[in-house]
Amino acid sequence: MLSDTIAAISTAVGESGIAVIRVSGPESIAEVGALFRSRKPLTEADSHTVHYGFIINPKTQEKLEEVLVSVFRAPRSFTTEDVVEISTHGGIISVKRVMDLLLLQPNIRLAEPGEFTKRAFLNGRIDLSQAEAVIDLIRSKSDRAFSLALKQVEGNLSRKITALRHTLVETLAHIEVNIDYPEHDVESMTTQFIKSKCAEVTEGIDELLRTANQGKILREGITTAIVGRPNVGKSSLLNALARENKAIVTDIPGTTRDVIEEYVTINNIPLKLLDTAGIRETIDVVEQIGVERSRAAVHEADLILLVLNNAELLHEDEIHLMEQLRGRQTIVLINKIDLPSQLNREVVNRYFPEEAIVELSVKTEEGLNHLEDAISKLFFGGQLESGDLTYVSNVRHIALLNKAKQSLADAYEAADTGIPIDILQIDVRLAWEQLGEVIGDAAPDALIDQIFSQFCLGK
Ligand code: GDP
Ligand code: ZN
Repeated sequence: MLSDTIAAISTAVGESGIAVIRVSGPESIAEVGALFRSRKPLTEADSHTVHYGFIINPKTQEKLEEVLVSVFRAPRSFTTEDVVEISTHGGIISVKRVMDLLLLQPNIRLAEPGEFTKRAFLNGRIDLSQAEAVIDLIRSKSDRAFSLALKQVEGNLSRKITALRHTLVETLAHIEVNIDYPEHDVESMTTQFIKSKCAEVTEGIDELLRTANQGKILREGITTAIVGRPNVGKSSLLNALARENKAIVTDIPGTTRDVIEEYVTINNIPLKLLDTAGIRETIDVVEQIGVERSRAAVHEADLILLVLNNAELLHEDEIHLMEQLRGRQTIVLINKIDLPSQLNREVVNRYFPEEAIVELSVKTEEGLNHLEDAISKLFFGGQLESGDLTYVSNVRHIALLNKAKQSLADAYEAADTGIPIDILQIDVRLAWEQLGEVIGDAAPDALIDQIFSQFCLGK
């Protein structure tokens, strides 16, 4: 049912300068027009124009809100339908009053979460990977995550997938010719051709998959645990990081309101700090509650910052910790280098390579930048700055790319063992379909519904 008209508040509800209500569908201009008073009727407005006026109560003719109304006529709009956007003064009361009036109109209903973007997709305005990137845009937690999502919206990933699929279609066409004209003795040449094409597309998929881990990190942040004995400087470190690198506290749209996560952004890499609800206090709480809980935090973390005290000998607990952390992504911070050294450095060296050890003083801030470099190196091999990479950061995309890769491997193997060409064609076609699912070509309805239900209202 796409022919009806929907409305929702598109900006975050709360204190803000302005708020925007978006209305989309065939009745949008007429229905908003019935509530809008300005010099010229809205129904006569050209596309892509902005109009100053008042929202009125149609029964009492009372002026309710001073607004700006933008008109986008089909198909040149986000959803490809007629779209009207009403900008009101921010604040929940004023937005809600306008929204309530709109919903009293006979042909307008409240949009479901993600419904605007869903319409844009179903009307062919954007493909599925672009729609999913809109979710990421809404949720992105760092500048880099934002531009990554933006690239995807712009169709970077779609372009690459489309090119790979094009190669597969060519291959399928080639196979078709061979099946239709078997008297042309091209069988062996075709097998060679299929193998080389499968290898070519597999390489393209591998390239995309290589970026997957980085993509996940940029999107979701590096889950980080700060561990160490009491008094080594964990809380001080956290405070210093939060001060130097703006700490971001987010609540994630679409999830329960009270999930609060704390992020600090280091060199544009978001670190998601574990035990988030006020880690400043809870680090010490962890100490009190004991090893049990910090062990859980360590288990969950992508990155562990082990803080040691330069001014003291290693404690037995710390040696145990280092043993446990072997093979984990760990950076050892030798803190308090402003004080005379007592620490048995050679023992630390036995557990960790030199590049994983950073000496610093949180107090004087000496060496704090080395920590930032160490994190970049550990996760991105220092290559983070190559800005035009396409990152694959979506779990569903990664799974599909792996499936397509497997289908191509099957085709390749079949070609090698002399299996008839019309059978190996099935695998090539399967790979083509799986890649197609990434960009939502022939995506099953259930999948589409599931993806769009992740949006927040008004998008
Ligand atoms: P936590 O128990 O591991 O969280 O340690 P705190 O952050 O509470 O720090 C313990 C004490 O060490 C505090 O008095 C800090 O001021 C001090 N401290 C932290 N970092 C440094 C440092 O780099 N040099 C010196 N001299 N003292 C530090
Ligand atoms: Zn502390």
